[in-house]
Amino acid sequence: MKKIALALISVLGLIGCSHEDGVEDQKNIYYPPNYVLTYGEKMFTDFEKDTILYSDSARGYNCHEMLRYKPHDATHYRLFNAVPHDFRDVSIYCKVDTIEKEFMIAHFDLVPQHHCMVGTYPGLDKKTTFTTMNGQRIELGPFHQVETEHVSFRVTCPDPLFFMLQKIRQVTRIKFSRYGKGNWGVLTPRDARYYTFAFTNMAYLYSSKRFEKAFKNYEGNLYDNNKNPIDRNKVYESMINKKLLNLGVVTGSGIGGLGGGAAFGVRSEYITKYAESNNNWPLEVYGHEFSHTIGFGHSSNLTYANESKGLVPILQKVYTEMYADKDLPFIGDPFAVEADPFIEKKNSIININMEI
Ligand SMILES: [Zn+2]
Repeated sequence: MKKIALALISVLGLIGCSHEDGVEDQKNIYYPPNYVLTYGEKMFTDFEKDTILYSDSARGYNCHEMLRYKPHDATHYRLFNAVPHDFRDVSIYCKVDTIEKEFMIAHFDLVPQHHCMVGTYPGLDKKTTFTTMNGQRIELGPFHQVETEHVSFRVTCPDPLFFMLQKIRQVTRIKFSRYGKGNWGVLTPRDARYYTFAFTNMAYLYSSKRFEKAFKNYEGNLYDNNKNPIDRNKVYESMINKKLLNLGVVTGSGIGGLGGGAAFGVRSEYITKYAESNNNWPLEVYGHEFSHTIGFGHSSNLTYANESKGLVPILQKVYTEMYADKDLPFIGDPFAVEADPFIEKKNSIININMEI
């Protein structure tokens, strides 16, 4: 079991907020620095090495924890922002089983988009005083090892996008894979950064009450590979609890996407074109391939709609409504300033008869 060294556990260290005697020793009080991250690394740049991009530990993340602060090793934490968005005024609170109050352990004026950093826990070498949410002070330490299961961190941020991220219940781990054989092309850093954007919206969509309701109350028949009606509650749970997707890109001639087990891929142009609200085709490919990954084949209408009935029409209707209501993490392309080499081809790549 992993252990982290955090200045902890000394219950004797819990002190009140009142220091009326005025003899408080100021030098060991920990005030989280209000710093803008100037170190760490920008992820998914065009120059990212393969060994990093395709590494689960370096670039993998969970859909419901896209901005996260976690133990890295015994003395370090790791801050990871998988979202293509700058978050301001980010606070990290720490909770230890043996101490009633949560206390602030870090604060960042700015966590830039696609940023990752490893830092040292404060207060490792001496008694340190931390501040709780209501201003109480807690004295902890010196250095003491505790098991990670007794420590948890909570991220807070006033950004409206952060509130949206907190509604994501889909726990899927996203990992980027090279592939590069058969109908699979080689996934590039550019593909990966667009995927982070598309999957933020998709995870939010699948997690939304609006989609859950539309799916469970759909008036049409939703059937499995044997044409039997599906258990909608069970299938919805399998969408939310999908454990892993290994993302890649598809290049095979006439193939829009591939999916099955943990493998998921669409054509590179669909990763970028996903941002266009009035283009339902990339969304259809995403929905179709995702249904493959939860076990449905082409004889089920969770992949191909039958007489316009099936999962894809539900996804398209709900997505369009959410887009109109601006109830999606991203409306439009977050990288719009970036030159898009696919844009000029956009009329030629839409082919609804493609096999997907
Ligand atoms: Zn298919």
